[in-house]
Amino acid sequence: MQTTEIPFISNIELTSLCNYDCPICVSKRDASGHMAPDTLNKIIETNRPILKDQRIWLHHRGEPLMNPHLEESVTALSAAGAKCRFSTNGVLLTEKRIESLLATPLDAIVVSAITNIPGDYVKLRGKDNMELVQKNITALQKAASAAGSKTKLQAMCLDYGQSKKDIGEFVEHYHALSVEVSVHSFSSRVGHSRYSPHTPRTVRKESGRAVCHWPFTRLVILCDASVTMCCYDMSARLRLGNLRDYNYSIMEFWHSPQYSEARRKHNDLRVDGPCAECSDWIYENPNFPPERPYVRIFPPGTKYE
Ligand code: SF4
Repeated sequence: MQTTEIPFISNIELTSLCNYDCPICVSKRDASGHMAPDTLNKIIETNRPILKDQRIWLHHRGEPLMNPHLEESVTALSAAGAKCRFSTNGVLLTEKRIESLLATPLDAIVVSAITNIPGDYVKLRGKDNMELVQKNITALQKAASAAGSKTKLQAMCLDYGQSKKDIGEFVEHYHALSVEVSVHSFSSRVGHSRYSPHTPRTVRKESGRAVCHWPFTRLVILCDASVTMCCYDMSARLRLGNLRDYNYSIMEFWHSPQYSEARRKHNDLRVDGPCAECSDWIYENPNFPPERPYVRIFPPGTKYE
């Protein structure tokens, strides 16, 4: 696998804190806090030439709306030419927060509504907030439409083994609000999620192993400026170092001996640690397509099948 000269910056995690403790997620025991504004500024100032046209998610382990500097972070990154988006569980989308978010140049908001089945929502999320989240998505859509906002809205459905009819109804529910839907396959987060719905559709047929593209093409910057190799690594076990030790230069880190060694191991299929336990690599090799991709997008007007 070839290494890209400039990495795709997949995520800049603005916080590792979360207002949820979902069984489908990893343990939040080690959550450390928000990214300091000064850290983000150093990352922006040092890496300005490679930020232009990057499409960056501003979440990873935490709930981005927990960070009081979210809006100013979006503005600062956008001024450097990046397109910013984030995924939220949607609980903290108050009227005031919606207004302040829509006043930024945010490219997209994805709300992880995950299911329209109340009992399943509680089982997967650990809290009974499904109706509140639905209400908040409706309010967000109305406010965005009234403001003529360019921010794209998407509702995320998790394919955890519910029936195709159930997923189809979720898609229709949000299409009726003119909201696009993404359907995500279940990820065990490198074997660390605490609840795993093993169903015929979420267990993948694997034969052999192929090289995953993450170490060669993209990276995730965590809230303390450390860097992990991949977005499935929600426990941050694949941290290769910290940007602080490279004067905040992403390019210097990307072409560092640590990264080269990690890539050599992947290319030789000598993976160890979390990568050896991982089954999500199957979504991440273009020559080894899974039965269904990790994410499928259904804009209004299309049909789920
Ligand atoms: S093998 Fe799995 S854990 Fe390792 S980088 Fe690829 S997707 Fe991530």
